[in-house]
Amino acid sequence: MSTTQDWDCIVIGAGVQGSFTAYQLASKKKKTLLLEQFVLPHSRGSSHGQTRIIRKAYDHDIYTHMMEESYQLWAQLEKEANVKLYRQTGLLVMGAECGHEFQLIKNTLQRNKVPTVILPREEFAKHIPNVNLSDGDGALVDVTAGVLYADRALKTVQGQFQQMGGVIKDGQKVINITPGSVVTVSTSGGNYKARSLVITAGPWTNTLLAHVGLQLPLQVVKINVCYWKEKVPGSYNVKHRFPCFIQVDCKEGKHHIYGLPSNEYPGLMKVCYHMGSETDPDERDRQTDRSDIHILQRYIARCFPGLMPVPAVVESCMYTVTPDHHFVLDRHPSYSNIVIGAGFSGHGFKFGPIIGKLLCELSQEEVSSYDLSFFRIRRFQAPSKSAL
Ligand SMILES: Cc1cc2nc3c(=O)[nH]c(=O)nc-3n(C[C@H](O)[C@H](O)[C@H](O)COP(=O)(O)OP(=O)(O)OC[C@H]3O[C@@H](n4cnc5c(N)ncnc54)[C@H](O)[C@@H]3O)c2cc1C
Repeated sequence: MSTTQDWDCIVIGAGVQGSFTAYQLASKKKKTLLLEQFVLPHSRGSSHGQTRIIRKAYDHDIYTHMMEESYQLWAQLEKEANVKLYRQTGLLVMGAECGHEFQLIKNTLQRNKVPTVILPREEFAKHIPNVNLSDGDGALVDVTAGVLYADRALKTVQGQFQQMGGVIKDGQKVINITPGSVVTVSTSGGNYKARSLVITAGPWTNTLLAHVGLQLPLQVVKINVCYWKEKVPGSYNVKHRFPCFIQVDCKEGKHHIYGLPSNEYPGLMKVCYHMGSETDPDERDRQTDRSDIHILQRYIARCFPGLMPVPAVVESCMYTVTPDHHFVLDRHPSYSNIVIGAGFSGHGFKFGPIIGKLLCELSQEEVSSYDLSFFRIRRFQAPSKSAL
């Protein structure tokens, strides 16, 4: 059946970024349609699961600055919907004390006056029991960090969007986009027209961008989401104030390892490797590589002696990774009423509220609240000869 209706804005993809963008648009009284290919809620993209880390500890000021506002927007949503979405636990950062990455994070935290505790090696065990700090590693705690309740957050923001008059049509896969001053979006259920379009399609971004003559250097990887059993129940749980953690400069692999205190599955702590193996998003379950799990097993045996070094539960999720691991927040180079939010590279959830605000501003041609040059598409284009 064909439906033709006019919208101020259509948002494609009801993951965390699309849902917050739709919410921001509706809060500005824009008539907004949020389209999702799967029936909601679903676990086939990047935003599902019960928990995500929220933190200000970053190696670039722009992220720490954006997180200042993101925390406020998360708190505003909690208040509006009367739902708890965040639990403060702190984030333990461990990494080579004199290493580049650890120093960058430490300096960014200090420069931006984020409440931080530096843990001297001799005091580490007193504060963080059951973790072996690697030789040469430093440790600090970003006190503001914690856990976001991801599934609950998605349900909440989508619910608030609908309460403001926004419309969600799930189970409607977008199969074509016709650009123009009015954009036409065709789905399995009909055609929709809008003055502007926001594409927040996560791992499927390039499939959609093919309809508007653009491809971005995005790599889609499958992440094995591993949960590890505590040898003594409670050793690493949220009630005993065990923090989230990030290990940089890890000896076992070239990417970070991160973990969250046991929470969603009692007695199981989530610890993951910050990279996976390339996959087609529609064929995710056929990617069976376990090299990330082997890295995690070696790390856990060495640094988390209170966990069984074999995962008790393995779920899956996807990252959409850019070459520099920074986001894409920009307008289409040829069609200024098509806005793209993509490439969140495995660290985008915590930014959901602020990304929603920025994509909404881009789609409404408003001045951006932040300098977005860091996130532009043109950074992927080779400089022209005349510019050299
Ligand atoms: C294991 C794991 C752990 C993570 N941990 C953290 C963390 O601790 N902290 C943090 O900040 N971030 C974390 N992230 C990253 C964060 O979850 C992602 O950056 C974020 O969820 C990306 O959201 P998205 O909206 O861009 O993509 P998605 O959630 O994938 O949403 C895209 C949506 O678009 C829909 N779609 C695609 N194509 C179409 C179409 N043709 N028609 C209609 N709909 C379509 C999809 O079905 C999907 O629902 C983690 C990610 C993973 C996988």
